[in-house]
Amino acid sequence: MTMLDAPRREHVPSTPGPAGAAWHTAAAEELAAAGRWEQAYQHLRTAVGLLNGRSGVDELDRLRREHAEAREQSRRDSLTATYNRRYLDERLVALVGQPGGIGAGGIAVALLDVDHFKQINDTYGHPFGDRVLQRLVAVVDSSLPEDAFCARYGGEEFAIVMPGYDRHEAVRVCETVRERVDGHLWQELAPGLRVTVSIGVAHGFGPVTGPDGLVGSADRLLYAAKHSGRNAVAFHDAHTGHARLAGPAGGRRSIP
Ligand code: GH3
Ligand code: MG
Ligand code: MG
Repeated sequence: MTMLDAPRREHVPSTPGPAGAAWHTAAAEELAAAGRWEQAYQHLRTAVGLLNGRSGVDELDRLRREHAEAREQSRRDSLTATYNRRYLDERLVALVGQPGGIGAGGIAVALLDVDHFKQINDTYGHPFGDRVLQRLVAVVDSSLPEDAFCARYGGEEFAIVMPGYDRHEAVRVCETVRERVDGHLWQELAPGLRVTVSIGVAHGFGPVTGPDGLVGSADRLLYAAKHSGRNAVAFHDAHTGHARLAGPAGGRRSIP
């Protein structure tokens, strides 16, 4: 029986002092080595309490909170507060690179780019363009299901990651995002303002496609959506293998 399994309360002194603290520290190390972080932390906390009393525990909790906040900030984009590229890359490698990281449906990755965003900056100024990006993220985030997430890929381009989604579901999510952006009351920001997005959505089943393969495929489909006239979602038809447009645009426009 290892320390991890021992019925601790019977064996461990809970009185202040180095003996109990040493036991809890050793247990914390063993649990940490096994990746059982939360339990390891609780033992460490007890050890600190036995050695330093309440003030030591409070200090440890404060450091832990600060660390969690710093970690969360390091994952966020400073302008829009959505996830940043670093988080996106880490999550994609974790999801796509490891067998079992994604559900049976596979995984979908979409790239979304604002249409003619340069014109918005040129017309209203760069700070106004920033506000448009902030509002855009709010619209996109509120249109996504809970298990999907958005991350800023760079500039006015965002990635939408949909783990466990099949192609059909992912296209539907992206078409909803496109519609909501198109239908949003942008006039609240400036009279006559209209903002639309183009989206390319790629789908794969894991290590074979790889994160770069998925993102590259989404990028080519985004390019196709732009060339079809923008304000559109492009995806690969599973039967023909050709790029197609989702929603009403699919019936009206073709991809050159
Ligand atoms: P397209 O429909 O082909 O995507 O046209 P576009 O004008 O959106 O494309 P282009 O790549 O020419 O312009 C993108 C612009 O986005 C240029 C750049 O100045 C602007 N941009 C990138 N990041 C930011 C940002 O953080 N804030 C603001 N305000 N503008 C940004
Ligand atoms: Mg653009
Ligand atoms: Mg762009």
